[in-house]
Amino acid sequence: MAAIVVIAFVGGLVAGSFITAVAYRLPLGLSLAGPRSQCPACGAQIAAYDNVPVLSWLLLRGRARCCGVPISPRYPLTELALGVLFAVTVVVYWDEPAEAVIGLVFLTMLAAITLTDLEQRIIPNKILLVGAVLCLAIAAPTDPGGLPERAIAAAASGFVFFVVALAYPRGMGLGDVKLAATMGLFLGRAVAPAILAALLIGSAVGLALIARHGSGARKMAIPFGPFLALGGVIGLLAGDEVVDLYLG
Ligand SMILES: [Zn+2]
Repeated sequence: MAAIVVIAFVGGLVAGSFITAVAYRLPLGLSLAGPRSQCPACGAQIAAYDNVPVLSWLLLRGRARCCGVPISPRYPLTELALGVLFAVTVVVYWDEPAEAVIGLVFLTMLAAITLTDLEQRIIPNKILLVGAVLCLAIAAPTDPGGLPERAIAAAASGFVFFVVALAYPRGMGLGDVKLAATMGLFLGRAVAPAILAALLIGSAVGLALIARHGSGARKMAIPFGPFLALGGVIGLLAGDEVVDLYLG
């Protein structure tokens, strides 16, 4: 088991490194397969040995080798978070390999969306679509009986968020609605505690900002995608237990 967990951790680091590139390139319309990564400040090509997840950032002390421009700690932190979450997911879903793989796809999608929503306030359709297709491609042959539950969960959470978005048009967008629906597809019934957690954490942060900045906080548009992603992680790792607890 230990070897698999280490492989999952390293796989998470690599997936994190990949999605930071996706999150940067996709909204700019750049090709994912295209030329090697370039420094966004000076345009110099980034050597492979300076592109090692987490380690390169630490060795370079958070600065680009070419021109010394600071590299946001968001990138190594995303890689590290995905590494840890991949390892935990493999342990939690040890007896259900197909569910484990669906979980890894889900985490990768959530991390990519967190980055694009934080940096550019968008939840790209392409990322949701690739995630949904991969989820169905794995779930259809391995768990065909679970497909109706996934479909119902997707429709229900999409509808709930559509209503929430109508009520708070400034706080939520159609991207959040589509993300909530996609989360239902991945999580099935566990999407209920996931969305509840997202709304609770999002409201708590919103209230804290209002307490700190007064009415000015109402004008601050906080992207909601990262809260949904956080709820998604909770739903993935503990959602079924919460549902069982509630139904029991
Ligand atoms: Zn540079």
